[in-house]
Amino acid sequence: MYEKLLPYIQKRKALEVTLTLFNFDNETAPIKASEQTAKIMSVISNEYFDLILNQDVQNIIQSLNIKDLDDTQKAIVKEWQKSYEQLSNIPREEYLANEELLVHSRIAWLEAKEQQDYNIFKPYLEKVINYQKKFASYRLKNQECLYDVLLDDYEEGFTTKIIDDLFSQLKKHIVPLLKEIQNSKYTIPRKFIYQDYAINSQRELSTTVAKMLGFDFDCGKLCETEHPYTTELHNRDVRITTHYYSNNLESGLYSTIHETGHGLYEQGISDDIALTSIGHGASMGIHESQSRFYENNLGRSYGFIQLIYPIIQNLFSHQLNNVSVDEFYHAINHVEASLIRTEADELTYPLHIMIRYELEKQLFNDEITVEQLPQKWNQMYQDYLGVEVPNDSLGILQDIHWSEGSFGYFFTYTIGSAIASQIEYYLKKQFNFESRISQEDLNCIREILKNNIHQYGAKYNTNELLLKMTGEVFNPKYYIQYLKNKFTKIYELDSCKS
Ligand code: ZN
Repeated sequence: MYEKLLPYIQKRKALEVTLTLFNFDNETAPIKASEQTAKIMSVISNEYFDLILNQDVQNIIQSLNIKDLDDTQKAIVKEWQKSYEQLSNIPREEYLANEELLVHSRIAWLEAKEQQDYNIFKPYLEKVINYQKKFASYRLKNQECLYDVLLDDYEEGFTTKIIDDLFSQLKKHIVPLLKEIQNSKYTIPRKFIYQDYAINSQRELSTTVAKMLGFDFDCGKLCETEHPYTTELHNRDVRITTHYYSNNLESGLYSTIHETGHGLYEQGISDDIALTSIGHGASMGIHESQSRFYENNLGRSYGFIQLIYPIIQNLFSHQLNNVSVDEFYHAINHVEASLIRTEADELTYPLHIMIRYELEKQLFNDEITVEQLPQKWNQMYQDYLGVEVPNDSLGILQDIHWSEGSFGYFFTYTIGSAIASQIEYYLKKQFNFESRISQEDLNCIREILKNNIHQYGAKYNTNELLLKMTGEVFNPKYYIQYLKNKFTKIYELDSCKS
């Protein structure tokens, strides 16, 4: 009986890949293409909508005996029913009206950002939030609050209770640690990162490092876009993007390492599920854990820097002739509270996320209004990061997410970092990230991640994967420990004061 599902599963994947390719192609398409392409894409989107809600598929699924299915089949059916539940509970007129609203709200957000004026965006944001609340209310079941419905969409099994605990620990330990760093006299020289670095040589460096990490260029490509990202097509066609700035060596290199982490995940998915609806990452948080593990835990570790610094120095001998490996290591682990999330360092990044999480939660619990948002935002930036927000564009208007109706998404970045630390703790039993890591170690680490996480795609959820791999479900203590240990050492603070 399950076999009857196969043509639908194939069709679903084909539609998903088509939509992803259209999106990927956006940047190379001519300027006047967008209107007609949007019409073509909406036909395909509708087709997708119909397929997910298809009654024949539902009849087949209802007739299945779950006990007869293997883990892969169970996961595919579960994934289908999750999408069905998301779409079937929302009346189509409201779904389409919301899609239409989002087009306008994105435009309003862009204009508001340009004019540094939140008031232009405010009426749209209000409507966007009302739709999100309404949609969540249709789907509210066992969860305690509306916001839980949204969190669960991105990270199955995660609730405000779990995330509150994570952020309260971060607030307790990381806010004082940052204050200590800000008050310390210790400074890290880093001007040399911002010299003139030829783009061609940066390209060469990125390609070399991606290869060292194991990115397979026969099943993937490294392209360039303003905002780096990874496409989800299938395991034999993984396109990652990066960007290069001629006056900043760190940005291009670490964007590449980050996206390589995502790319290795996609390439590691096993062939037998690659063309099904579970042929992608298990969740946003797990996907981000792979990119952040490579970017920060491994990529900014002393052991890894020791391995790649000779290559960097060789390519940029003129700029880095007098810079030691220790100086380079410290420079790329420098901490400085700033206004913009996407430019934040490893320590302050989760505080940016914490602010967004708290505001979203309060909005969905009707504890604050859209009117109050900028003032609350600015106050939190002052309290947690110690920075003053000069205008709305550098504050409340900086991220595109809310204009696209994405609420309950931000926390997955921090979940990703926290999972990366839990995985690192587990790997540290075998590898020493403090002393030189070899090419052989890199291959070995990739194999371990592939065997424990990548190959399964979305067959298991976050906690199931972590339990299998590390012996316990999600536990934020490893992240707090990691941040405290790393930055007290780098800033030579008296350890464990906070
Ligand atoms: Zn990422």
